[in-house]
Amino acid sequence: MNSKKTIPVSLNDPRVDTFPTPPFEQQKQPFPGLVSKMIPVPDHGETSYKGSSRLKGRKALVTGGDSGIGRAVAIAFAREGADVAINYLPDEEPDAQDVVNLLSKEGHKIVAIPGDIRDEKFCQRLVKDAAEQLGGLDLLVNNAGRQQFCNSIKDLTTEAFDATFKTNVYAMFWITKAALEYLPRGSAIINTSSVQAFLPSDNLLDYSQTKASIVAFTKGLAKQLAPEGIRVNSVAPGPYWTVLQTSGGQPQEKVEKFGEQAPLGRPGQPAEIAGMYVALASNENSYTSGQVWCSDGGTGTL
Ligand code: NAD
Ligand code: MG
Repeated sequence: MNSKKTIPVSLNDPRVDTFPTPPFEQQKQPFPGLVSKMIPVPDHGETSYKGSSRLKGRKALVTGGDSGIGRAVAIAFAREGADVAINYLPDEEPDAQDVVNLLSKEGHKIVAIPGDIRDEKFCQRLVKDAAEQLGGLDLLVNNAGRQQFCNSIKDLTTEAFDATFKTNVYAMFWITKAALEYLPRGSAIINTSSVQAFLPSDNLLDYSQTKASIVAFTKGLAKQLAPEGIRVNSVAPGPYWTVLQTSGGQPQEKVEKFGEQAPLGRPGQPAEIAGMYVALASNENSYTSGQVWCSDGGTGTL
């Protein structure tokens, strides 16, 4: 019945409107993959995100800021008035340069710091470089992640297990610890977890464990840092159309149907989740800490 009503131009129909829906083409890329090779290319808010000075004067480090959810967050933060540093792997330089070009042309301060966060020394250097180049740091988004599916625990190697934990858990610990040297009262830390922390898939054993760790880390650290006036929260995405999924995150048969099972019948686009990070980062939510905010297309995971 609702579908027959005329939709005012100010509304976005979240189900069909302009959003891509499955089936998608099979499109395997080697990890970590590039946004430009995705079909269709995800929407990170490049043309749509409008800021309203909610993060004016803030200084943010976003890991995995070259693509996907991190790119959408970097764009949103910059357009809300923040100076932004992004980290990514050296192989992702073309994606990172797209972000740098877009935001610097608009007059925003955007700093690119490539490097592998599985290395503790690099994590310390990353934070120092970001704080020095931005002239401070008050917003940290631990968003980089490794997700490589494996159908059986018998085939899950120690090397793969270790790489997933180093990227998703150890690096968050190392980067956060280093950032505490710089974060003043009023700062915010936001960690990207996942619905996988609560409803783990059979083929993501290592990944889902790391995402549960991120939730526990977020809640415990929020208590520890409350006396210092630093808020710590997490965003738990459901299925989002990003290169993580097409470069080994899912088998290609699942890529074809990606997001189909969500009540909205499609995956989210990175632009659709950036607003949660902006809200958690903003002074407006100064009483919100130790929380996990979920965006899963209607499943109701949390
Ligand atoms: P993405 O591939 O665009 O982003 C992940 C980023 O992690 C990469 O761009 C890369 O820069 C970074 N990264 C990976 N290994 C690294 C390393 N060793 N050193 C430095 N950087 C490294 O995919 P995305 O989906 O936007 O992922 C962002 C976050 O969202 C991840 O933490 C992911 O687990 C989480 N997430 C994604 C989904 C989804 O459906 N896409 C769902 C739940 C959670
Ligand atoms: Mg990337």
